[in-house]
Amino acid sequence: PVIDRDAARRAYDDDRAHVFHSWSAQGALTPMVVAAAQGCWLWDGEGNRYLDFSSQLVNTNIGHQHPAVVAAIQEQAGRLCTIAPQHANDVRSEAARLVTERAPQGLDHVFFTNGGAEAIENAVRMARLHTGRRKVLSRYRSYHGHTQAAIHLTGDPRRWPNDSGAEGVVHFVGPFLYRSQFHATTEAEESERALAHLAHVVEMEGPATIAAIVLETIPGTAGIMTPPPGYLAGVRELCDRHGILLILDEVMAGFGRTGEWFALDGIDGGVTPDLIAFAKGVNSGYVPLGGVILSNAVYETFRERPYPGGLTYSGHPLACAAAVATIRAMEQDGIVDHARRIGQDVLGPGLRELAARHAVIGEVRGRGVFWALELVADRETREPLVPYNASGAAAKPMNDLVAACKRRGLLPFVNMNRLHVVPPCIVTEAEARLGLRLLDEALAEVFGG
Ligand code: PLP
Repeated sequence: PVIDRDAARRAYDDDRAHVFHSWSAQGALTPMVVAAAQGCWLWDGEGNRYLDFSSQLVNTNIGHQHPAVVAAIQEQAGRLCTIAPQHANDVRSEAARLVTERAPQGLDHVFFTNGGAEAIENAVRMARLHTGRRKVLSRYRSYHGHTQAAIHLTGDPRRWPNDSGAEGVVHFVGPFLYRSQFHATTEAEESERALAHLAHVVEMEGPATIAAIVLETIPGTAGIMTPPPGYLAGVRELCDRHGILLILDEVMAGFGRTGEWFALDGIDGGVTPDLIAFAKGVNSGYVPLGGVILSNAVYETFRERPYPGGLTYSGHPLACAAAVATIRAMEQDGIVDHARRIGQDVLGPGLRELAARHAVIGEVRGRGVFWALELVADRETREPLVPYNASGAAAKPMNDLVAACKRRGLLPFVNMNRLHVVPPCIVTEAEARLGLRLLDEALAEVFGG
């Protein structure tokens, strides 16, 4: 692409003068101007090229500027840009059908939102109305979004300054063998003990007060910890025993990321939740879209009784046209299977090779195009390379690593002491290998070896 450097400089200046950014102290920001993007690649305002191993916020599953999706949005814009949610609309109807066809049996309806947090917000509202109960359980080491219920459910430090203590959320410890809180040494032990802990929390909180248990099928930003065999099935069973709904958050893990349409398809033979929250990969974020997929039992609750919620842009035609084109393209091009194979054949083995060479890598975990490197100060003690919620000087080693990656034209995703390798699902073998090589060099520069 041709990069207009003057336009990029103006973009930077206007940004600093007028744009208020998420999650940040505004004063110290030096945002990279992104002038163009294509597939797995980005160009900054100087014309430097980057391989996007972050998929932005782990959402551009189909890559940037997929021609079929761009054309679908253009065609829809020429035909009908917007329509209120009470009307029926062809692309909204088709998007709902395509999404539910990929969900487990018995989840046949979609409530569309503009993103993931709103999906969680509405899933929790539905669960509370369906059960007549208020309390909701979620795990530490999770992220569910920044709106009221979603940020209270979140089990990471972003909740702390937002926590009113009044949302009826109780947190529990989920399975994470590498940092087991249950003194487990095997996946089987971790699964069993994490389930026993959750059963205890349910018992102590009062099962009849709990509307739902909310889990990311595979926690994403919190560290990409695939639950050990039996855990999700065990949570499902616990929910069934007490009339508690299971809400699975597939916002980050869904739509190809794990090499499955939904991450839940690849775990315990496919656990069926009562509600699924999705967003991001459903249309790779080309136009904001999220939603809740409802079980038929929850749907029945609102057959006679009105659902007390709605959004002006629920099922926005531009977003739904993008979703229809994205899902069709992923199906036609075999993108979900491709993501699984890249994980099995290239990223998994390649990252384990990096771990063999770099002592700073304590653990490699993931599947598909959804991988985390757990970076440690000491492999024996597993002390994290930077403390939980490190900022400023304490976060320096991670910042140095990001800078070393970017100097080489690689854009990684980092959170606390972890570097996540989360390229678009369409990443080619050659691109994946190039990214691994650049990461190898960056690790060597910052940590030696
Ligand atoms: N749930 C999960 C698992 C997420 O990763 C995110 C965003 O990263 C959200 C919910 C919130 O989605 P959004 O930022 O679209 O509101």
